[in-house]
Amino acid sequence: MADKPESIMTELGFRYDPSDLYQQVINDVLHACQIMDAPRKLQLILAQPKNEIIMHFPVQMDNGDYKLFKGYRVQHNNILGPYKGGMRFHAGVSLDHVKSLAVLMTMKNSLVRLPLGGAKGGVQVDPGSLSTNELMRLSRRFVSALGDNIGPDYDIPAPDVGTNAQVMAWIADTYINMTPATKRWMGQAVVTGKPVDFGGSQGREKATGQGVVYILEELMPEMGLPLKDISYSVVGFGNVGSWAARLLQPHGSKLKTVMDHTGAIINEDGIDAVKLAAYVTEHGGVGGYPDADPASEDEFYRADVDLFIPAALEQMIDARKAEMLNAKVVAEAANAPTTPPGEKVLRDRGIAILPAILCNSGGVTVSYFEWRQNRQAESWDEKTVDENLRRHMYSAAQRVKLALHRYECDMRTAAYIAALDNIDRVYNIRGIFP
Ligand code: GLU
Repeated sequence: MADKPESIMTELGFRYDPSDLYQQVINDVLHACQIMDAPRKLQLILAQPKNEIIMHFPVQMDNGDYKLFKGYRVQHNNILGPYKGGMRFHAGVSLDHVKSLAVLMTMKNSLVRLPLGGAKGGVQVDPGSLSTNELMRLSRRFVSALGDNIGPDYDIPAPDVGTNAQVMAWIADTYINMTPATKRWMGQAVVTGKPVDFGGSQGREKATGQGVVYILEELMPEMGLPLKDISYSVVGFGNVGSWAARLLQPHGSKLKTVMDHTGAIINEDGIDAVKLAAYVTEHGGVGGYPDADPASEDEFYRADVDLFIPAALEQMIDARKAEMLNAKVVAEAANAPTTPPGEKVLRDRGIAILPAILCNSGGVTVSYFEWRQNRQAESWDEKTVDENLRRHMYSAAQRVKLALHRYECDMRTAAYIAALDNIDRVYNIRGIFP
């Protein structure tokens, strides 16, 4: 039998603390390794990232003063291909967070069978406090600090919380300008999630939300919950939450209540997700939306719905919130939104969890399509992107179901097993150098 998660963690010098996000994620990985009886070498390799890069770099503010910023890039694993994962600009960015998210990228990319490894990065900054010019200078200087640690054949960033297509365009432009002229044409493939006019892919902006909806289309009817009959709630109405809601609307699902950093709103007759998304673009959040009533946090969590979609930050469903939820299914559109105590409560209460590495791998899948289009000097139409995304998401769901039946475990463990099985096979074929 494979080593217990705790023993590998202790061997690597961790002081066991399951409330720490990195340990939560690695614990899930090692638990799956144990169930599938994965070799000890796989557990050791995956329990720590290959590279952890920390940079400090100055940026001139509009008032002429300088500020020093801390940037990170963590490259977790590249056995399957170049490192791949987003760049987050957020005040809460820390090494522990970036490491955790890098592991999740390795798992997502393997589960969806992309020829890519896992990485994540970011800068500790509140992007809302910067002017557009300050944000541009920060993005460009971050790329210069990263130097050769990113590249179209090596490590390919993408958008995440607090970054967008414009930031990706600045990253690509800076990288291209730092590249020798004879190699420049490939430079735009250094980053995905770019604007469509500058090497971006059709369908990339909505991709994570679209991936969530493809997974729901595949799994909800089997649970006796066809999308046309369900009601649901969403926390977080940024890129992922708002696109998931907009794309659920044509299915006839009823959006009952939404919460974000500006407040919660509720309408028993349903909220129009397209109109709400337009309102959020104009007002910066859902608070004050005229076609719904304001709600308290408690009312939001206690709302009687079939489906709850967490689409905000990590570790937000703790035991207290899990107790309040009045849903049959939680579809984790955000990365690692459920804490271990929260998960235990959900399980005890019989609430199904569709795990994050399955639900939210649509974004990186379309990133992979963008990278392929750039490298082949092609541009796919939206129908081609959507069809390919649907195929990837459906196959990933099938893999998870197979592991679920074979190992008779919970769906999160099954998703990790389906991802790890692929990585394990490649390690066995390639062996460990020297
Ligand atoms: N930031 C997204 C994620 O967490 C996308 C990563 C990518 O496209 O590389 O999956």
